[in-house]
Amino acid sequence: MFFEELATVKGAMILDTEIAGVVERLLVGHPPGRSDPTEFFGARFDAGLAWVHYPVGCGGRGADPKQHRAVEEALDDAGAPSSFALNPIGIGMVGPTIAQHGTARQRGRYLRPLYTAEEIWCQLFSEPGAGSDLASLATRAERDGDKWVVNGQKVWTSLGHKAHFGLLLARTDVDAPKNHGLTTFLVDMHAPGVDTRPLRQMTGHAEFNEVYLDDVRLRTDAQLGPEGKGWQVATTTLMNERVSIGRSMATMASPADTAVRLFRERSERDPVLRARVAGMWIESEIGRLITERAGQLGQTGDPGPVGSVGKLFGAEHALRVHNLILDLLGPDGMLYPRFGDNGAPMEHAPQVAFLRSRANTIEGGTSEVMRNILAERVLGLPRDDSGPRDRPWKDIPRN
Ligand SMILES: Cc1cc2nc3c(=O)[nH]c(=O)nc-3n(C[C@H](O)[C@H](O)[C@H](O)COP(=O)(O)OP(=O)(O)OC[C@H]3O[C@@H](n4cnc5c(N)ncnc54)[C@H](O)[C@@H]3O)c2cc1C
Repeated sequence: MFFEELATVKGAMILDTEIAGVVERLLVGHPPGRSDPTEFFGARFDAGLAWVHYPVGCGGRGADPKQHRAVEEALDDAGAPSSFALNPIGIGMVGPTIAQHGTARQRGRYLRPLYTAEEIWCQLFSEPGAGSDLASLATRAERDGDKWVVNGQKVWTSLGHKAHFGLLLARTDVDAPKNHGLTTFLVDMHAPGVDTRPLRQMTGHAEFNEVYLDDVRLRTDAQLGPEGKGWQVATTTLMNERVSIGRSMATMASPADTAVRLFRERSERDPVLRARVAGMWIESEIGRLITERAGQLGQTGDPGPVGSVGKLFGAEHALRVHNLILDLLGPDGMLYPRFGDNGAPMEHAPQVAFLRSRANTIEGGTSEVMRNILAERVLGLPRDDSGPRDRPWKDIPRN
């Protein structure tokens, strides 16, 4: 009873009357369940309901950012399909970055197929020698006439093997300090010189890749944002990434609910275990509320450190709750069910989710880096000193 009563505390957003009418017309014209999902996503974009707070023509209606969540909830309640799971990096991170920094031509060319998931996107940021200290990256983009020529290696590129396009951060000026010599590009993942090699994780799946860029030639209109301002563009992506990861952790079937279900199914009476399950459920609610707040702030343009706080909380909670689930599974926790009775891969089996949850404290910025952000931007503690900030990148010693 306790859990059901608490679940009803979740609050709904109020939908503006005019937008409610647009939502209704979309649902009447494209009834969920009977419409092709891609057509539905396209109609949603054209109706300005993709990101309702974006300008008209960019999948929005220039509405109050708070209305975005209300639209999502109304469409979820109506059983509408969501393209986020098909193109999480595109919709969660690249879309907001193109909307904020792209030219009119880039917004017109890329946003709609990104939203309908007809074009999948990946993020080409991390390198073998540049993860937490991303600004030290070494992939070079050099001008050659009216083209840019890119050489370097990226790693951990989620969905790189499925992506049509990648958002690339590359060094265009080696004489500038590390944060100032970067530029962002939109790269065709099937262009000559792009070599994508999947990497297998401990779950057995190959979600991410290493990507080699070997004399990849880009037209100048592949540049996103001004030359040398890549760090500012990437900051938009990274802030949205933290909110997006936090949000996808919060909207997935909650692992705390799995713990509650297992506790019940096993008719457990152990009071210590019962207290752990209840504590974990409360934690998951706190995480959901932080993420909700970060999401709302993010829609106004800058989620600030709240996105990092939500990401840190969600990642650490994921470790604790998946440990608890394995305890509840007992000896079954040692099994690794790759395929279910129907032969389909068991990607969401609790044992697989336990292994996958280890990555939550690394992806989108490690927990240590999130704690640094929390220390500096929320608590006002002295900055983490990662070396002189004005030294040219080429003079910084590298491994
Ligand atoms: C599942 C998954 C998916 C990913 N997908 C993508 C993707 O699609 N695109 C992409 O570009 N990247 C992606 N990444 C990469 C991710 O952003 C990096 O792994 C992350 O930023 C950490 O960088 P690193 O692995 O190089 O570790 P390092 O930066 O080398 O860190 C090693 C250790 O040192 C600690 N550390 C480093 N600096 C500090 C500091 N200043 N203070 C305290 N501790 C510190 C870290 O916390 C960590 O424990 C993904 C990672 C994972 C796990």
